[in-house]
Amino acid sequence: MPSTAFSVKEKDLPKKDYLNTIRLGNMAADTARIVLEFNRGVIIKRSFILAPQSGFQWRLVIDLDLMAKTDGLKQVTAEWYDNSVAEEKREAPPVRNRPASKPLIVLDPGHGGKDPGAIGVSGVYEKHLTLAMAKQMRDLLLSTGRYRVKLTRDKDVAIALYARRRFARSAGADLFISIHADSIKKPQTRGLSIYTLSEKASDKEAEKLAESENKADIIAGLDLSGETQEVTDILIDLARRETNNHSSFFAEKIVKEIKQVVQTLPNTHRFAGFAVLKSPDVPSVLMEMGYLSNTEEEKLLRQPSYREKLAKATVKAVDAYFAEKHKANFN
Ligand SMILES: [Zn+2]
Repeated sequence: MPSTAFSVKEKDLPKKDYLNTIRLGNMAADTARIVLEFNRGVIIKRSFILAPQSGFQWRLVIDLDLMAKTDGLKQVTAEWYDNSVAEEKREAPPVRNRPASKPLIVLDPGHGGKDPGAIGVSGVYEKHLTLAMAKQMRDLLLSTGRYRVKLTRDKDVAIALYARRRFARSAGADLFISIHADSIKKPQTRGLSIYTLSEKASDKEAEKLAESENKADIIAGLDLSGETQEVTDILIDLARRETNNHSSFFAEKIVKEIKQVVQTLPNTHRFAGFAVLKSPDVPSVLMEMGYLSNTEEEKLLRQPSYREKLAKATVKAVDAYFAEKHKANFN
């Protein structure tokens, strides 16, 4: 409770055989507590606050049930388990929950379900390639023993863009990599590119791409009511410069590694307002693996061995990112 002046004395409080003691006190300048110690296991049946009535002031009511003596521990365990399950089902609050263990990489295979994403010259769907790539990356990252990895989807399902972001944030991700493949009207264009968030797109093409990727939710018929434009705008405003710096720092690492193994677009690191990159506190990049509108590149992207090259280069970049971040205490 907030700091409280108790008008009752501990010794004047009622005694019951199962209630050992009641202690009152201020713990800190702004916190007070009431501690009830029982001789037996109890269960909180319900607790609520009653507004002033019938001559009483505000009341906090806690209804307790005594546990059967024999199954106390079992009951406590069951109760605790039920609560933690219920806890998990509730939507995770948007706070960073950063465990001290290995860094968590969240991989986000673009599109899925009703939304195929771009469709390749041979008819291959972007959503299948992005999922295949994410799984390869996950396996490689895990095999280093240095990272934890989560996928926003590991099946062919539609997920709203804000939900992908929220997933990364509530999981406490240290890095977020969204995986895509592009398609444009110029069939000769090919090459990989890496995007980080910017309200100002680096060029018209980048702007158009972000626009079409951001349409994923509309295509999949997903409910966007979870996030209004206003909230999205606030999130952009809140996007900390620090997080953007980290995202760019990581994007540069990927570019450096990937340039050595596959063809990239000129100005490989690009900027655009992708909805999925708007977490204010999770460094995020979006990888456009290549163009499904280019016959040759589409064929390459369908080959697991080609994707393996991309995945390996990405893992090297992740290694370099965390190594330098650690060295520079860039946190
Ligand atoms: Zn896409």
